Amino acid sequence: KDPVPSDIAISRAQKPKKITKIAQELGLIENELEPYGHYKAKVDPKAVIDRLDEQVEGSTHEKGNYILVAGITPTPLGEGKSTTTMGLTQALGAHLGYNSIANVRQPSMGPTFGVKGGAAGGGYAQVIPMDEFNMHLTGDIHAISAAQNLLCAAVDTRMFHENTSKTIKGFYKRLVPAKKGERSFTPSMLARLNNLGINKTNPDDLTDEEIVKFAKLNIDPESITIKRVVDCNDRFVREITLGQGKNEASKYPPRKSGMDITVASELMAILALSTSLKDLRERVGKLVVGTQLESGDAITAEDIGCAGAITALLKDAVKPNLMQTLEGTPVFVHAGPFANISIGASSVIADKLALKLTSPSNPINNHKKGFVVTEAGFDFTMGGERFFNIKCRASGYKPDTVVLVATSRALKLHGGAPDVKPGQALPNEYTSENLEFLQKGCANLAKQIENVKQYDVPVVVAINAFSTDTENEIKLIQEEALKAGADFAVPSNHWAEGGKGALQLADAVVEAVKVAKSNEQKFLYDVNDTVENKLLTIASKMYGASAIELSPLAKQQIETYTKQGYDKLPICIAKTQYSLSHDPALKGVPTGFTVPIREVRCSAGAGYLYALAAEIMTIPGLPTHAGFMNVEVNDDGEIEGLF
Ligand code: ADP
Repeated sequence: KDPVPSDIAISRAQKPKKITKIAQELGLIENELEPYGHYKAKVDPKAVIDRLDEQVEGSTHEKGNYILVAGITPTPLGEGKSTTTMGLTQALGAHLGYNSIANVRQPSMGPTFGVKGGAAGGGYAQVIPMDEFNMHLTGDIHAISAAQNLLCAAVDTRMFHENTSKTIKGFYKRLVPAKKGERSFTPSMLARLNNLGINKTNPDDLTDEEIVKFAKLNIDPESITIKRVVDCNDRFVREITLGQGKNEASKYPPRKSGMDITVASELMAILALSTSLKDLRERVGKLVVGTQLESGDAITAEDIGCAGAITALLKDAVKPNLMQTLEGTPVFVHAGPFANISIGASSVIADKLALKLTSPSNPINNHKKGFVVTEAGFDFTMGGERFFNIKCRASGYKPDTVVLVATSRALKLHGGAPDVKPGQALPNEYTSENLEFLQKGCANLAKQIENVKQYDVPVVVAINAFSTDTENEIKLIQEEALKAGADFAVPSNHWAEGGKGALQLADAVVEAVKVAKSNEQKFLYDVNDTVENKLLTIASKMYGASAIELSPLAKQQIETYTKQGYDKLPICIAKTQYSLSHDPALKGVPTGFTVPIREVRCSAGAGYLYALAAEIMTIPGLPTHAGFMNVEVNDDGEIEGLF
C-alpha cells in the first residue's frame, strides 16, 4: 500500500473549487458573500438567516441535523477528532448527497509555529488550502488582538489620567468635553450612569457627588484581570512590567502584568458564544476588567467606554469564514477559544448559520435535512460537558447525535500499555495486536459513553482506524462499545481514504439521528445552584470524583463573585485532558479521588465562571525544534513545511 503523503502535500495536490462555487452550491446569494481571495469568504449570518426565515413561512425553528464529534481520553498524539469531523462531512456531502457542513475552530498561530498542532484534520480528511487556513485566515484573530490590546491600553491610561489629575472635577471636564460648545455623554457613559442610578442626560446637571461617583472609577491596580495578548507562543511575555517609560513612571507607579496568547482572551470566548452582533456588543459591555478600590464593585469595558470601539473592531470577525474540505464540501471556520480555560469549540453564530443552511427551508436542500458536524476540543468528559452546559445553553441548540472518537492506541494506554510520547516510536504493544490491554482500556470508552448518555442523545462510536489495527482489535472495541450502551460502533478509515473511508460512519450517523427522541435540552446542573454544588456535580457525575476541595483563595473568589452577582453562571473547569480525573497519571477510569480547585475566575462577558483544577498556562512556549523552523516559501510563492 502506498504511504499517505504529508498533509501539506495532499492539500497542495488538490485544486480547490473557487469559493464562489462553494457558496453557490450552498444556495448563498451574492450580497451574503464577501470573498477574501479565491478560496475563502466571509458569510453574513444575519442576511442569510433573515432571508431563509422570510422565504418560507413558519420556518424560523427549522434546522439541519446537528452532530457533535467528541473523543475518549486521548494520548498526547491526538486521537483524530478533527480528522473524523472532516471525514464524516466529506462522506455525507461528497458521497451520500447531503448538504453537509463542517464547523471548526480557527487555529492559533501559536501551535502552528510551535509544537505541531492546530491543523483541521489530516491525511485525506482536511480543510484546504491548509496554509491559508493555518495562517491569518481573514484576520479574525488579529482583530481580537487589536480589540483586547485597545481595552488594556484604555484601562491603564484611564488609571493614569484619573490618578494624575489634580481634581476629579477637572478630570470630569476633560472626560466629557464640550464639542461645538455642547457637552454630551457617549452611549457608554449613559449606560454607566444608568447602572449607577443617575438618570441625567446633560453633563452640566450632575451634582459634585454624582461627578465623583461617575468619573472616579478608582480601579484597584492589583485587581486587573485582563492582559495584553499576542498570537504567538512567546514565553518571555508571561510576566512583564508596564509603564516603565520616563513620562509614565515619573507620575504613576509601574505595575506587574503579563501577556496571554490571543485565543485565551475573553474576547475570543465572547466571539464563540455570542448569538449575533448585537449580543456580542452586550457581552463586550459586561466584560469585567477589574474591581474598584474600597467598594469592590466590578468595573466593566462599558465603564471604560471601550465596548463600542471593541465591537467596531470585531464587526467583521462575527461573520463565519467559508472554506472547503479536500472533497469540495463546505466548511465554516470560526472562532477558536483556548480549550484549556474556555470552551474549545467553534462559534454559536457559525452553528446557527450552518444549521439554517442545512434546514429544509433552504431551497437547495429539496426539503431534505442536511448535517452540521462540529467538534468539542478535549475528551467528551471535559469538552463535551462544556459544549452541552455552556455552548448549548447559550445557543439553545441540542446536538442530535454525539460521535465519540476512539482509537486502539488510546484504549491500550488506558489498559496499562506503556506511555506514548510525541516524536518517539510507538512501543510494540501499540503496533501489534494486544487484546488484553485493549479490553481493559475499553473501560474508559464505556465511561465516556455513559457520560454522553447523561445528556439524552444517541452515541455513535467511531473507531479511527490506524494501519496497524487488527480485525480482532476493531471487533473487540465494537463489542465493548455496544455493551456499554453505544447506539452504533463502526470503524472509520477517512484518514487514509477520505470520505469513502467514512461511509460506514456516515450511515451510522444517518440512522442515529432517527433514534434522537427529544429536542429538549438536558443540562448537568442548574445554573442557579451554588458555585460549590455546580463544581461538585461536574466532578462527580462526569469525572467520577468523590469530592472537591476548594483552596482558601477559591473560597474567597467564590464569595466575591457571589456578592457581585456572578454566581449564577455555568462553569468551565480547567484540568488535564489526559485523565478523567485532574491527575494526568491516572489512566483508565479512576474513582474515589478529590478534585482540588485552586482558583475560580469569572468571564462575565462570555458568561461563565472558570475553575482551575491544575496549573494552567495561558501562553505556551516554543520548543527547541519548533514548527517555524520547517517553513519555507518556494519561488512560486507556495508554502512548504507546514505539517
Ligand atoms: P484531535 O482533533 O483529536 O486532536 P487530529 O484529528 O488533529 O486529532 O489528529 C491528530 C493527528 O493524528 C493528526 O496529525 C492526524 O493527521 C493524525 N491522524 C489522525 N487519524 C489518523 C489515522 N487514522 N492514521 C494516522 N494518523 C492519523
